[in-house]
Amino acid sequence: MQMTDRETAILVAQADRVRKEKYGDGVWVRGLLEYTNRCSQNCLYCGLRRDNREIRRYSMDEDEILKAAEKGYRAGFRTLVLQGGEDPDWTASRLCRTVESIKSRFDVAVTLSCGIFSGQDYRSMASAGVNRFLMRFETSDQELHRKMRDGVTLPRRIQALSDIREAGMELGSGFMVGLPGETEDIQQGNLALCRDLGLDMVGIGPFIPNPQTPLGQCSPGSMEQVVKMTALLRLTLPYANIPATTAAGSLCSNGREAMLGAGANVLMPNITPPCYRDHYQLYPGKTSLKMDHLPDLAEIDRSLRDIGRYMDMARGNSLSIALRSS
Ligand code: SAH
Ligand code: SF4
Repeated sequence: MQMTDRETAILVAQADRVRKEKYGDGVWVRGLLEYTNRCSQNCLYCGLRRDNREIRRYSMDEDEILKAAEKGYRAGFRTLVLQGGEDPDWTASRLCRTVESIKSRFDVAVTLSCGIFSGQDYRSMASAGVNRFLMRFETSDQELHRKMRDGVTLPRRIQALSDIREAGMELGSGFMVGLPGETEDIQQGNLALCRDLGLDMVGIGPFIPNPQTPLGQCSPGSMEQVVKMTALLRLTLPYANIPATTAAGSLCSNGREAMLGAGANVLMPNITPPCYRDHYQLYPGKTSLKMDHLPDLAEIDRSLRDIGRYMDMARGNSLSIALRSS
């Protein structure tokens, strides 16, 4: 989308105003736990794809997940996001039992982000206490989608998103910016699909080429484009939770701050145990420099205050939920 610098600045300022009006200056902070890097899928862009033989695979067990959840809870996190590949060992019923154990011990909201399941599976997850589910549609273009996701179709992804909504969980989706083959029309289509799905949460980030994948030699998405898209999303879905994502921070040192200044209101620092964190390589450069188990929350709060914001550790439900049920 061609825009002058001045037009972009106006768009970003408007989005920032809407974010402030709806959500205030607090930034919800969630703990991201990457519990498995095994995956039966073969998405062209992703380092966890099943054909990548260059990564060391791991899958945390229930005990390790509970311990990490406890550490996160004690540090003050009130939302835990469990993300992983489509790992056949992590069936829906195993996930449900694990979430039940977490929720019986700790007063937290749980978000899952682990790909496509059946409608019945999503209903079981909701009954087990899963509050939210994140699954990006990645690109709204049917042909590009099938190519990028090695044959899995966009209608299948959208069916799963609609099953998640019907199961009663908060619905999160989104897309990558700058996938090889993306056009301006496709970018518009990505925004329109977020709107049509009426998302409660929208996660976007730049595509980052991973040398261990077939797209390793392609160019990355542009941070300017990510910022513009963030602003347009805030204006399109004023009540949605919008994270400033890790990919933005990996591509560009102030990427997350730029997203926070353009309408984003959520951060998801990594709470994956250090022994596994290095191996969850969706894309390169993801490794955080600090290898402590937990992120330094005081430091996060300080850097947020530098940009006129502050850390908020509450559960942070999407406002769109309250709006839908009123
Ligand atoms: N398996 C689940 C969740 C883990 S992948 C799923 O696919 O939904 C989480 C997200 O990482 C994906 O939705 C994708 O948008 C992002 N991702 C994967 N590879 C990437 C890359 N090379 N650059 C940027 N983002 C990437
Ligand atoms: Fe697996 Fe998700 Fe990566 Fe696709 S994006 S290969 S489903 S982890």
